[in-house]
Amino acid sequence: MKKYDVVIIGAGVIGCAIARELSRYQLNIAVIEKENDVSCGASKANSGIVHGGFDAKAGTRKGYFSRRGNRMYAKLDEELHFGYLECGSLVLAYNEEDYQKLLDLKANGEKNGVDDLQILNREEVIAMEPHVSEDVKHALYCPSSGVTSPYELTIALCDNAIQNGVDVFLNTEVVNIDLDKDGEHDFRIVTKEEIYHADYIVNAAGVFSDRIAKMLGIDDFYIIPRKGEYILLDKKQGHLAQHVLFQTPSHKGKGILVTRTYHGNLMLGPNAQEVDTRDEIGTNEDVLKYIVDTARHSVPDFDMRFMLTSFAGLRATSSTHDFIVGRSKVPGFIQAAGIESPGLTSSPAIAKYIADELSQSGLELIEDPSFNPNRPPIIQKQDKDIVCLCEQVSKSEIIDALSRGLYIDHIDGVKRRTRATMGSCQGHRCREKVATIIAEYHGIDKEEVTLRGKGSFELPPREDRMFWKKLNQSED
Ligand SMILES: Cc1cc2nc3c(=O)[nH]c(=O)nc-3n(C[C@H](O)[C@H](O)[C@H](O)COP(=O)(O)OP(=O)(O)OC[C@H]3O[C@@H](n4cnc5c(N)ncnc54)[C@H](O)[C@@H]3O)c2cc1C
Repeated sequence: MKKYDVVIIGAGVIGCAIARELSRYQLNIAVIEKENDVSCGASKANSGIVHGGFDAKAGTRKGYFSRRGNRMYAKLDEELHFGYLECGSLVLAYNEEDYQKLLDLKANGEKNGVDDLQILNREEVIAMEPHVSEDVKHALYCPSSGVTSPYELTIALCDNAIQNGVDVFLNTEVVNIDLDKDGEHDFRIVTKEEIYHADYIVNAAGVFSDRIAKMLGIDDFYIIPRKGEYILLDKKQGHLAQHVLFQTPSHKGKGILVTRTYHGNLMLGPNAQEVDTRDEIGTNEDVLKYIVDTARHSVPDFDMRFMLTSFAGLRATSSTHDFIVGRSKVPGFIQAAGIESPGLTSSPAIAKYIADELSQSGLELIEDPSFNPNRPPIIQKQDKDIVCLCEQVSKSEIIDALSRGLYIDHIDGVKRRTRATMGSCQGHRCREKVATIIAEYHGIDKEEVTLRGKGSFELPPREDRMFWKKLNQSED
């Protein structure tokens, strides 16, 4: 029987941040994840922006956590080396109505504690971002916004949690939860593989968090999945946006942004579309066309011949339109549910809050003197043994990535950890070599190494490739 003080369901950025936070204490902790790696949900497919905290409405949970989370990133990156750049953001205004929205955003941000906001005129904007549209008249500048690599953050949090004694179970889907004894926190967490026992549960299951809550009869919220699609361009286009460039927000959300990524690519997106399924993350040609057209209002001259790929993520929008965090009506069952944007930004602050909520529920938090907050970086450039020419990733980096405590037998897992296969050839030249290294490392047949899980080599061609070809024909 596997018995834990705390079981966290879901290994996205929220579950992993909570696991790492709790690993400071003398506790038995497990993370249970249904996919074959951490960061397979929203945490791998988002804008990667560490928001300044001016957009989330003051007085909401999102407003409360986003600024606090933002302020924690620099130290977190010093400890975990996942990659964070405080590049600043601009909300672009094209007319008087937009300008009023900038004033509203500034006032809202100040209520959230964002004390570095400035309204810039056109000349000031152009001096900072020479490639923005001629139609831009003003911008709201937030120097403390930044960009990060969301999956590298999630992996780093998990690596560090494992270093500090947390057990992580991948490929393990929670199918039911019940209470062993009335009135006491003795949960039985039933998975397809095993039964786990825990005194406390943290529900960090993203778009599935309402289903997990329902297993214990909690039905006071539901999740409406909202898809967001993106286009990623080569690093050769990264110079077109040195900051995160937002358009003014609407009732649909923050709108289409143009941004450099942490690693220097140019990224466009996302849209926001409610969807019926919770696992369909394909991209759609019409949506991609809309993203390109809308992004050109911010930066007109990006070159779509440099498109690398498209991808999509699902926001876990809750019916309460806010994060659901903290104690629930079932004693010992703690929610970290419905964490849509700015959840990535908020994650370190949410993790601290959840630890506090667990303590308030009776969990004794005794500091573990052996806790080590530092996790060495994986991505260290080497000159020899280069496997991925585009991103200059060496064999020793791949082996380092495979030896951090999780069993990774898929190419995407190596990609998220090292960037191998992520460059301009998108893995055409190095995928086979990466598969060979994975097979050798684990002592398995190369045929057992998959792209991103069973059956993934047989996936149909992605629509983005066709889109890329068609668009280039029409632009040439
Ligand atoms: C399009 C888009 C853009 C965004 N942009 C930003 C941004 O720029 N900045 C920002 O701050 N935030 C952004 N966000 C929000 C951010 O990505 C999320 O808030 C964050 O990733 C949520 O993390 P999570 O751990 O709650 O969810 P997830 O990452 O989805 O993790 C939940 C995990 O639970 C697992 N799980 C579910 N059910 C079970 C089960 N039964 N058993 C076991 N495991 C289970 C899933 O497999 C998954 O791995 C964006 C989100 C999207 C979709």
